[in-house]
Amino acid sequence: MIYTITLNPAIDRLIYLNEALTKRKNNRADRVAYDIGGKGTHGSYAMTQLGVANLALGFAGEDNADKFQQILENKGIPHHFLYVSGSSTRESLVLIDPNNQGSTMVTEPSLAVAAKDKRRLIEYLRQHLTKEDMVLVAGSQPQNFELSDLKELLVTIKQAGSFLACDLSEEALSLAVSVGVDFIKPNEFEIAALSNGIDSIEQTLQELAKGITCIVASRGEKGCTCYYGGDIYNVTAPKVAEVNDTGAGDCFVGAFLATFYQTQAIIPSLKMASACAANKVQYEDSSYFVATEAKELLSQVKITQSTSTIC
Ligand code: ATP
Ligand code: MG
Ligand code: MG
Repeated sequence: MIYTITLNPAIDRLIYLNEALTKRKNNRADRVAYDIGGKGTHGSYAMTQLGVANLALGFAGEDNADKFQQILENKGIPHHFLYVSGSSTRESLVLIDPNNQGSTMVTEPSLAVAAKDKRRLIEYLRQHLTKEDMVLVAGSQPQNFELSDLKELLVTIKQAGSFLACDLSEEALSLAVSVGVDFIKPNEFEIAALSNGIDSIEQTLQELAKGITCIVASRGEKGCTCYYGGDIYNVTAPKVAEVNDTGAGDCFVGAFLATFYQTQAIIPSLKMASACAANKVQYEDSSYFVATEAKELLSQVKITQSTSTIC
């Protein structure tokens, strides 16, 4: 089984405006739609679209649990969130200007988890994870979920022997690197933050590859570079008309892990991930893509392989 863990999800309320957002005016909307905001749930969505069984875990608020579950179910995402009593899952307002002119996001504060909520998650993982499983920990942390809690979470997953993938940023990503996880997918900003300002990107990646099984450094429309098994894979992205690149990385990670879980083969996994992410950026939504359309882009993904100098 693949589990995804979204510690700090959101309900995205997408408001499609009639005209560009303007201050001191009543901005009218054409329509409103709901989506799940949360990197792990986006990964789950991609896995589900590719027909790979998965379960989305994490914390959510009990007070608006019905709304949260309805969105997950509309998106076909199997879920088992732990509900925090007396709290609501935060809502993010996404105000979308017409004609692809961009959007404005307003995010509410996250819910606060208590010690007993954190214990429930750790206990659930201790009871269910096996070494055949894969786990993706993705996105930010809620209030009261400290770096020490994140460390306990990552160590619990490692101790179960599961394949541990992380899509984290800033100190959380540095922590994942120091714990020694199996997969990370930093984007250009995340890599720069890891490079301590002294090393080049290549030196940073080579150093990281000593402790992490698979690293994908993504560079948006320029594609990505993967370090795996002593080899370096340079991957070009299909050329598409981009509408919204938010969530491209989440889609990439979900599609990569789904394919890698099924095949254990790096090249098909990189190809499928690149094709799905390229299809996703053609849609306004931050997770939506169409698997059949993505598969038509597979032949456009070009990969060159060279041996890494570190091994
Ligand atoms: P996220 O918003 O999900 O956190 P990210 O910043 O982590 O995204 P990116 O580096 O922007 O991730 O993109 C991840 C992958 O998606 C890229 O390596 C590429 O394969 C694909 N991708 C992103 N933008 C485009 C684009 N405009 N055209 C084609 N493919 C793209
Ligand atoms: Mg990006
Ligand atoms: Mg990302």
